Amino acid sequence: MRVYFDHNATTPVDPAVVEPMVRVLDSSNDAFGNPSSIHHFGQRAKSILDEARTAVADLLRAELSEVVFTSGGTESDNFAIRGVAEALEATGRRHLIASAIEHEAVLNTFKALSRRGWTTTLLPVDTSGIVAPEALEAALTDETALVSVMHANNEIGTVQPVADLAKIAHARGALFHTDAVQSVGKVPVDVRALGIDLLSLSAHKFNGPKGAGALWIKRGTRVTAILTGGKHERNRRAGTENVAAIAGLGAAATIASGKLTMEAARLSALRDRLETEILASIPRTAVNGARDQRVPNTTNISFEGVEAESLLIALDLEGVAVSTGSACSSGTLEPSHVLRAMGFPTHRTQNSIRLSLGAGNTDEQVDYLLAKLPKVVEKLRALTGARR
Ligand code: PLP
Repeated sequence: MRVYFDHNATTPVDPAVVEPMVRVLDSSNDAFGNPSSIHHFGQRAKSILDEARTAVADLLRAELSEVVFTSGGTESDNFAIRGVAEALEATGRRHLIASAIEHEAVLNTFKALSRRGWTTTLLPVDTSGIVAPEALEAALTDETALVSVMHANNEIGTVQPVADLAKIAHARGALFHTDAVQSVGKVPVDVRALGIDLLSLSAHKFNGPKGAGALWIKRGTRVTAILTGGKHERNRRAGTENVAAIAGLGAAATIASGKLTMEAARLSALRDRLETEILASIPRTAVNGARDQRVPNTTNISFEGVEAESLLIALDLEGVAVSTGSACSSGTLEPSHVLRAMGFPTHRTQNSIRLSLGAGNTDEQVDYLLAKLPKVVEKLRALTGARR
């Protein structure tokens, strides 16, 4: 049996997403035109973009004109942060705030801007993996241009109190961006209810294609384009749109909208059973992060005395794909910056694995892992002399 429990890294493309993408690529459908062209072929392509924009706007409860298509989560995060930084530079607001557990797309963009004279602050978290509103209050200054705190964390799944944080940021005149790459398509996300200014999403995290995403920009928000060129996307992101990938993003958004609540309930039941039974059947295991404020599909578990990379490889040999944390840092023995920021000792940052569930996962697959895992862990502990 092959089981995929790494949906936070990426998800398989839904067959119902492939079909509209192929329709765009199949030249007999006349949709290969440049969406900026006025003729029939261009207008066919443009109508596909319009349809996808409607689907994404509906998923976020947003307005059509607020959705800008990008090449994915990384570009959306860069666009939000660099775009606001540049737009507000002349106002004297040259301070940026993020949480210490953001994705590298945010953290490394902060590093790049700090090398160019921006002041940056990273908000701490405790072992819950949740940002405290008081920490943001203390960090804000009259120079803060932007606060960027992710909606759901990719490694531990914790959901941040984004609505509260956005209110606090706004009270000091700062804009608020949230990286919602790991929550959109998994839980309801309503941009108005969150009270934010910018939101990043990525299609491949909810059964859409890789290389397609969007930045939601609240109407009236000052953001400078970071990709300059033609007048695409209402002058906000130059470059001929990737129509097939965007069609896929739109289809994935429609599918997600239609099954959001039911699928979230199904996945959280599956995840909770997996988690509870691992904790019960394997000694010296613990869940990392708050269990009551999480997206429904993610758990991150520490196995004392086991090196996470070895566990990942051993499970792969048994046909089960898991992860040691963010995909970008796997393949290295770098301890997770998220678990480190939560204050865990080094050994715990290196003995934890992430299991992230998705559309194709079943009870039978959970049973399969539960049958394999105790023996694998025991074997690894015996090898390192960590068995007690
Ligand atoms: N932000 C978060 C929280 C993520 O998990 C990821 C992907 O791992 C990204 C941003 C980057 O998205 P993309 O892979 O679409 O560039």
